[in-house]
Amino acid sequence: MDSRLPETSREKLEAWLRYYDDLGFGEFFIDRRTIGKRSVKAPAAPLQTAAQAAPIAAPAAASVEPSSASFSAIRGAPARILPVVPAASLFEVIDRVEGDTLELVRENLGECTRCRLHKQRNKIVFGAGNPRAELVFVGEGPGHDEDVQGLPFVGRAGKLLTQMIEAMGLEREDVYICNVVKCRPPENRKPEDDEVATCSPYLYRQLDVIAPKAIVCLGGVAAQTLLKTKDPISRFRGTWFDFRNTKLLATYHPAYLLRNPNAKGEVWKDLQKVMSFLGLKPRNPSR
Ligand code: SF4
Repeated sequence: MDSRLPETSREKLEAWLRYYDDLGFGEFFIDRRTIGKRSVKAPAAPLQTAAQAAPIAAPAAASVEPSSASFSAIRGAPARILPVVPAASLFEVIDRVEGDTLELVRENLGECTRCRLHKQRNKIVFGAGNPRAELVFVGEGPGHDEDVQGLPFVGRAGKLLTQMIEAMGLEREDVYICNVVKCRPPENRKPEDDEVATCSPYLYRQLDVIAPKAIVCLGGVAAQTLLKTKDPISRFRGTWFDFRNTKLLATYHPAYLLRNPNAKGEVWKDLQKVMSFLGLKPRNPSR
C-alpha cells in the first residue's frame, strides 16, 4: 500500500480492496481517462473495459447503461426500456465470478459488517432452497421471524409465499428463496440505496450460481434493484424481462397481499405466466 496516502485514505482503500477481494476480484485497473487534468488521451481502442476500471475509479457512482437486450420483453409483449439509474453494484459491469458456488458466496459474506444493517440483526438470512432451482424468488429483506431463525420468508408473509408456491404445483424445497439485503432493516423499513448497493453483489452471485430459468421479484425493492429502475412496480408488474440470460418477472410482495387481499388475483395471474413459461400445472385449478 502506498505510504504517501493519508492514513484514513489508506484504511478506506484497504477496506475496499478487502471487500472486492471477498467478491473474487484480484486485479484492479485505473482508467486514466478519469483522472481529470492528469488524464492522457484515450487510445483509439480502449485498453480495458469499464468493468475493470470501475472499482478504483468510482465504484459507488458508476453509471452504466444496460443494453436494450437486458430489458427486452418476451412472449410477444413489446420490448420495454426502463429508465437508467446509477449502477448499484459492480456486478452490472463485470463478468460472472469463475467457479463460484453458493458455499463460497456464503463464506465470502462471513459475519458481514459491510453496512449499517449488521448492527441490529440477530442472524444473516442468506437464502434457502434448491441450489439448482429453476425458479428463484427474490424478496426485499428479512423481517422479525426471519431475523430470529436465519431463514427467508418464514413469517406470515412466508406462509403465504409457501401457499403460492404450492398452488403453482411446486414445493418450497423445489425453489430457491432469498432477499436483496441479508440483514433485517430496523422496524422493517425499506433498505437504503447504499445498503442495497453494498449487499446486492452477493445476490447477483447467488443468482449467477443457481442460474434459474426464471426469477420472480417479490415487491418493488427486489424488482427495482435487479431491473435498475425507480419505476413503481405497478408499472411493470407481470411483464417478462431478460436479466443476465434469465427471465425475470415482478409481482407484489406477499406482505402487500396480507394488507391488500384484493391484489391476490393479479399476483395469481403473474404466477400463471411463470407456470406457463416453466411448464407447471396448478395444484388446484379452481384456486
Ligand atoms: S445487509 Fe448485507 S452488506 Fe449489510 S451487513 Fe448484512 S450481509 Fe452485510
